[in-house]
Amino acid sequence: MIQPNLKSHSRPVLRDRFRRAGLPAWRADQVLSWIYGRGVEDLHEMTDLPATLRDELAANWSVRALETERVQISRDGTRKFVLRAPDGATVEAVLIPEERRNTLCVSTQVGCPLACSFCATGALGFTRNLSAGEIIDQVLRAREALDQGETLTNIVYMGMGEPLLNWPAVAESIRILTDPKTLAMAPRRITVSTSGIVPRIRPLLELGPVNLAISLHATTDAVRDELVPLNRRYPLDELLGALRSDDLISRKRPVFFEYTLMQGINDSLDDARRLPRLLRGIPSKLNLIPMNPHADSPIQPPSRAVCDAFAAAAHAGGLRITLRRNRGGDIDAACGQLAARGAGAGAGRGIRIPLSAEA
Ligand code: SF4
Repeated sequence: MIQPNLKSHSRPVLRDRFRRAGLPAWRADQVLSWIYGRGVEDLHEMTDLPATLRDELAANWSVRALETERVQISRDGTRKFVLRAPDGATVEAVLIPEERRNTLCVSTQVGCPLACSFCATGALGFTRNLSAGEIIDQVLRAREALDQGETLTNIVYMGMGEPLLNWPAVAESIRILTDPKTLAMAPRRITVSTSGIVPRIRPLLELGPVNLAISLHATTDAVRDELVPLNRRYPLDELLGALRSDDLISRKRPVFFEYTLMQGINDSLDDARRLPRLLRGIPSKLNLIPMNPHADSPIQPPSRAVCDAFAAAAHAGGLRITLRRNRGGDIDAACGQLAARGAGAGAGRGIRIPLSAEA
C-alpha cells in the first residue's frame, strides 16, 4: 500500500490532519521544518519528536515521493532529472541555469490527455495526475543537485501535463512553495502555463500574484483546433475574452503567451501580423519558441530568418517579444521533447534573446 505523503499537504491542512488524529497541531510545524528547513526525510531522524510519535508517523506517512533515477546534463548546462514514483511512474523535471537565475520546469501529470499534435508528451497519452508531494519533490530533488550557494530562483509549471487539469494538487503545491515557513518562494517567481482551461484561470490567479502563461501556438481557430485540440472546447474568443476581464487586467501583470513556431503551419507573416490584433487589450508578452524536432512528430522549426522576420512583424504591431533559443535539445529536455520517455511540453523553456521590445 502506498502511504499518504507529508509533502502533499500545505501547512494549514497538515496541522488540521494532525489535530484530527489527536496530535498537537504544532507537531506538524515541527515535522515540516525538518523536511523543508533541514532537508531531513527520514522521520526517525527528527530527534526532537518523541520516539513513539516518530514510529507512529513512519507507520502512517511517507516523506519521499520521488527518487532520482538519473540526471542527464546537456552541453549547455541544462539538467534533466528523470524521477521515479513508488508505483513505477516516471516524470521529468528540467533545470535551466542562466546567468542570474536557476529555473526549474516541473511536470504535473504522467503523460497528458490533451494530445497537442506537436508534443512528445501528448503522444504518450495520459497515465495519472501527480500528487502535490510529487510536484514538490521535483523541486527538492533539483535543489539537492545545486552547487553550494546556488538556489532555485524560478519555478515554471511547463513540464509534462496540463497543470490546470490537476488543479487541486497544483494549487496545493503552490501554497507549499509560497508558504514562508516551508519553501518561501515569492509567487512572482512562479509561472503556470496552461493550454487554456478557461474556468481554472481565475482560481489560479486568486492564489496570489503568480505568472500566467498561455500556450497559444496559433492565430486562428482552424489551426489551433489542429495543434491544441482543447481549442475546440475553449476557442480563442472565449480564452482571450476571459483574459480581457477588468479584474485580470487590473492585476497589472502581463500574461505570457507562448507561441511555438512550426515550419509552414503557423509561421507566416499573416500570423505575425494577426497576433497583435488578437492580443489587443491584454497586457501581454509574447515568447516565440522555434519548434523542437522530436521523433514523434514530423513538424520542423522554421529557419532562423523566418523566425526573425516573424518576430519583427509581430513587434512592429506593438507586441513585447522574446525569441527564445531552446535549451537541452541534445538530451531531449527542450520544450515538447520530454517524454520520460515522458515529460512535457507546454511551452516556453529556453534562454531569452530579448528583442528591442523586451521590457
Ligand atoms: S503541449 Fe502541454 S497540454 Fe499539450 S499535450 Fe503537451 S504537455 Fe499536454
